[in-house]
Amino acid sequence: MPVGILKITFIMKNSKKLVSVILSAALMTPLMSCANEPAKREDDGVFNIVTSFYPMQILVMNVAGGIDGVTVECMSDPNIGCIHDHVFTTDDLRKVENADVYVENGLELETFNDQLLNAYPDLTIIEAASEVNDAPEDEGEVNGHVWTSIDDYIIEIRTVSAALSEADPSHAADYEANAEAYIGKVEQLRSEYEDQIAAVEGMSVLVIDETLPSFCEWPGLDYKVVETDHEQSALSAGDIADTIDWMNENGVTVIFVSADSDAGIADSIAAEIGGSIFEFGTCMTGEVYADAYLDQMGNNLELLQYLG
Ligand SMILES: [Zn+2]
Repeated sequence: MPVGILKITFIMKNSKKLVSVILSAALMTPLMSCANEPAKREDDGVFNIVTSFYPMQILVMNVAGGIDGVTVECMSDPNIGCIHDHVFTTDDLRKVENADVYVENGLELETFNDQLLNAYPDLTIIEAASEVNDAPEDEGEVNGHVWTSIDDYIIEIRTVSAALSEADPSHAADYEANAEAYIGKVEQLRSEYEDQIAAVEGMSVLVIDETLPSFCEWPGLDYKVVETDHEQSALSAGDIADTIDWMNENGVTVIFVSADSDAGIADSIAAEIGGSIFEFGTCMTGEVYADAYLDQMGNNLELLQYLG
């Protein structure tokens, strides 16, 4: 078929007879000029929220789930791991193109925002961690994995709820009601942690994974973190030797790792010093369902009971 000619097939309602019509290039002109304009979000009456990665998806499912006319979609696959290593795909961009708002964790975890804003300069970005003021720091760098602190996670829920209400006022009451119900569940879990926090406060542990400092600071653990970019295999022989020295000098025998990271190095360190490993869920990956954070953090509580 020549360029500029569109073939449209109609199905006749009664006869079910197929009729093909060839439109001329002249008729096509208005359509062709539209096709060259930048893609715009169509007003389809649905408020579409796109999240950057799994922990934000779980949070937003709770704040915006079950509301007529509101959809929640995640830009990235739930099992990609941490978003700070993520490289955009065309499929990611297609999802963001359809976003009314985009919800991210922030605190520099989503390092690709320049690319995002280049593609979609008018995109409304909600940064869940924008009101979190106690993010851990390591050598002057902010550690943005703050959702593993239950207290900080509650701040993120409130921030997202308020921002969604502002961006989509017609559903504000729904977002606020959902957020309060979810915070109630998270606070209930937090209260279940209270006794355990008292039992472990001030204990010294080694942390191999940067998702866990917020989880440690929240119950007041004394910890040393070895950053691995979520891959224990990234540790050099020298790093491992220094870590073992530090543990021996400080009498530390407990190692915290993330269930999302690979194992192996922690095993060999524990074997060397006669220590033990605690593997915590960090809600960075997992099954996509609304209670995923509550379940992972609830499992962590059970594990913590073996520590104190
Ligand atoms: Zn990370």
